[in-house]
Amino acid sequence: MSLRYKFKKARKLLAALTPAEHAELTRICENVRQSQETLLANAGTAMQQCLHNCEGLCCRNARVDDIIGLWDLVYILALRPDLVEDMAARVEREAPFYSADCMFLKEDTGPCVFTPSIRPEVCITTFCSGDGTIQKEIRRVKRQFFKLSWFFYWRKPRAAFRMLGRLSKNGGSGATFPGPAPSKGTRVVNHGHTRGEKHD
Ligand code: SF4
Ligand code: SF4
Repeated sequence: MSLRYKFKKARKLLAALTPAEHAELTRICENVRQSQETLLANAGTAMQQCLHNCEGLCCRNARVDDIIGLWDLVYILALRPDLVEDMAARVEREAPFYSADCMFLKEDTGPCVFTPSIRPEVCITTFCSGDGTIQKEIRRVKRQFFKLSWFFYWRKPRAAFRMLGRLSKNGGSGATFPGPAPSKGTRVVNHGHTRGEKHD
């Protein structure tokens, strides 16, 4: 799946949401954002390496399609709809199957166009210098992203159960409710800097 394809799919998924679903998704995305903020606030030692000893290598000469997934794009677009046009123009530059500098580096040199706590999961949870002291925070970010994907996984079944429930209540169709609806899925303080921002 190319990044271009995933971007279009993310936009379609968001456009198909009802207002109630959109509100629920925003709540989930706010939890992802808070978990990212907590991780950054606790990523001191690991972030030192990114800020002071590295030129942001993980944003360069990379297979961006492997780094940024569908749920990352949904997350970013849900919280930053104002970025949609800029992101659309950037993903058009993708050369699938080749390594390249990430197209989300501002002016091709950095920093990253995304704010520090609204970044793709891999970007925010990867510290090549070791992450032993922030395992708990990393797990929390991953768990919140999982809830986001779960929300979409159960979206259609939830809507179908709701419709059957309504039909059953109205007694019009003779439809039998098939049982309970499945439960909903169910860096040193970085001083505003993070990966890709060492090029200021
Ligand atoms: S994780 Fe940090 S240290 Fe490792 S390549 Fe990326 S910016 Fe550099
Ligand atoms: S931090 Fe930003 S610029 Fe770096 S790989 Fe992630 S999205 Fe791209």
